[in-house]
Amino acid sequence: MTSRRLLLVEDEPSLARTLGDRLAAEGYEVEVAGDGPSGQQLAADGGFDLVLLDVNLPGKNGFDVCRDLRQGGTSTPILMLTARNELVDRVLGLKLGADDYLAKPFETLELLARIEALLRRSQVGTPAPDTVAGAARSYCFGDIRVDFDSARVWRKGDGGAESEVACSALEYRLLRFLIEHRGQVHDRDRLLDEVWGYDATPTTRTVDVHVSSLRQKVEPNPGRPEFIVTVHGLGYRFDG
Ligand code: CA
Repeated sequence: MTSRRLLLVEDEPSLARTLGDRLAAEGYEVEVAGDGPSGQQLAADGGFDLVLLDVNLPGKNGFDVCRDLRQGGTSTPILMLTARNELVDRVLGLKLGADDYLAKPFETLELLARIEALLRRSQVGTPAPDTVAGAARSYCFGDIRVDFDSARVWRKGDGGAESEVACSALEYRLLRFLIEHRGQVHDRDRLLDEVWGYDATPTTRTVDVHVSSLRQKVEPNPGRPEFIVTVHGLGYRFDG
């Protein structure tokens, strides 16, 4: 098995070295970028399984790097690291397309657990154990087509040409789960269990943030969702 490649974007040399060494000891191949622009360039060039992205960076902050990567179509999972622990930061990071968020100072074991969880979740090209045998390899609703083999989402434009919809790994997993269980109502805790897969953080608010960003990407009119619908007092349901 080839080792997983991690990109660590961190400007504090001592932390970058300590973390880099620890991750390497865990069997990861680690590349370090010390500022925003070079981190963004490396991440956009691809080849990484995960990006660890500090928020306070010289040149360009982590939020801007994350947003621009997602807008540029990079779907590599992003775990944001920050010294700030305000809820607003967390929500902002997730809105901009980050997959998870960890506040400094953090325990290395906690970081390793998050990395593992994100890498597991991004294994979307292989069918999940609970996938029904013979399930469709793609699913269409509205002008959206979700390709389960390549884990990519496409939108049909005028004339039938498709363009890719850039989704984070979490958004994709959420969408896939909803599609595979369409017609059923899921409360936020169930979605956290099924899609996020661990119960420490994030909070149920995280679900709302990701549902909202997913609607922006796949709903014809995100303000009046027709596919990912809110069931008041209960949760969400996919109608498609
Ligand atoms: Ca920093």
